[in-house]
Amino acid sequence: MTQTNLIKPMLETLYPVIDYGKGVYLYDKTGKEYLDASSGAITANIGHGVEEIIEAMHEQAKRVSFVYRSQFTSEAAENLAKKIAELSIGDLNWSFFVNSGSEATETAMKIAIQYWQEKGIYTKNKVLSRWMSYHGITLGALSMSGHTGRRARFIPLLEDFPVIHPPYCYRCPYNREAPECGYVCAQELDTVIKRIGAEQIAAFIAEPIIGASGGAITPPKDYYKVIKEICDKNNILFIADEVMTGFGRTGPMLACEHWDIEPDIVALGKGMGAGYAPIAAALVSDRIMEPILQGSKVVMSGHTLSANPQSCAVSLAVLEYLDKNEIMKEIDEKSTYIFQRLKVLQKMFPFIGDIRGKGLMIGLEFVENQANKTPFPRSFLFTQKLIGQAEKCGLILYPAGAGIDGVNGDAILIAPPLTITIPEIDELVKRLHETFQLFTANNLIKEDD
Ligand code: PMP
Repeated sequence: MTQTNLIKPMLETLYPVIDYGKGVYLYDKTGKEYLDASSGAITANIGHGVEEIIEAMHEQAKRVSFVYRSQFTSEAAENLAKKIAELSIGDLNWSFFVNSGSEATETAMKIAIQYWQEKGIYTKNKVLSRWMSYHGITLGALSMSGHTGRRARFIPLLEDFPVIHPPYCYRCPYNREAPECGYVCAQELDTVIKRIGAEQIAAFIAEPIIGASGGAITPPKDYYKVIKEICDKNNILFIADEVMTGFGRTGPMLACEHWDIEPDIVALGKGMGAGYAPIAAALVSDRIMEPILQGSKVVMSGHTLSANPQSCAVSLAVLEYLDKNEIMKEIDEKSTYIFQRLKVLQKMFPFIGDIRGKGLMIGLEFVENQANKTPFPRSFLFTQKLIGQAEKCGLILYPAGAGIDGVNGDAILIAPPLTITIPEIDELVKRLHETFQLFTANNLIKEDD
């Protein structure tokens, strides 16, 4: 049977057909239950089937679902922008709403370039980033991404934006340890800026914690302080891509708060609508908006469905739900608990090399040998087989090993809805344990014959 990820006849689809979801669980048409340990693609942050969100959707649909962004605004969009400004750090007081994370990062890039143009500088058109980073699938966003797998087919179409090494301490490319290393991977930014010339560079973009293509790669304490100093010294804007980390995934509203830095522009997505509606945003600080407001006044970006009231009402309801139920206050406790439980599994299963991340964004990297961190050969398809086994055990995991120089091919993200309870974490760990046991018993850790 031909299998594809396009949808035509249901029977040929690659995936089980989901019937409904409730809380952290999804149920397929055959009645099989799945514990959604990855919130889909780290998106269903408040779980499935939440009545308040359905109610908000319904109420907004009764009033108006769509108005065009350059003709009208709506109460839903205005209230959402107000709520985001309240909850965000610093002077990130302006929201530009779009429909996906890729649109959010591309909008952020365009705003950065426009900012310099409004100040009379027309040469600053490049955006620097890092290997392994993923900022989206559209060509501008992919140009800023260091995700080799997703770039490969389109390289001739991509801008040649320079990248630096990520803060991948588990496999430090310099073979050093923080803080004694002096954050040499961050200092690389300075070297690249000197090589290209600061006058060419509009911004540096980074996911505070690298998600999709590394498995929660978490920088050490002063890493972003060094990065931000280099950006400021060279008149380069700092864009935080919080599409995955945003809205409480790692504990605070924005993951940047862990490192005490204030970005100039922030991209948000995924958790903003928590999967109930497509919505994303570029948040812009007062200081970046100032020359734009004095100049062209409008940001040159946007999509037909930008700021549509239906998605804005959903996002506002999601934020209010998080706020009202104080979900973020519980993240630390849940995180500590799940890390403890995973460390126990690491002692039992020698292929768990590293466990990392913050809050409920947890990465596991798999290795052939814990002591020398030898990666599995790519041909073993370790992650793919593990995820298949997990699905059989009723557990959904997210593949997160993109690889850099052929290393770190095998990693997953564990990122359940933030609303998960401690007994549900126990169930998650139980299913993960069973997955690892069956994986070992079925001798899947070897090359296919
Ligand atoms: N940035 C980050 C950090 C992401 O994780 C993703 C999605 N995985 C994107 C951007 C792109 O978002 P979308 O898939 O909604 O376009």
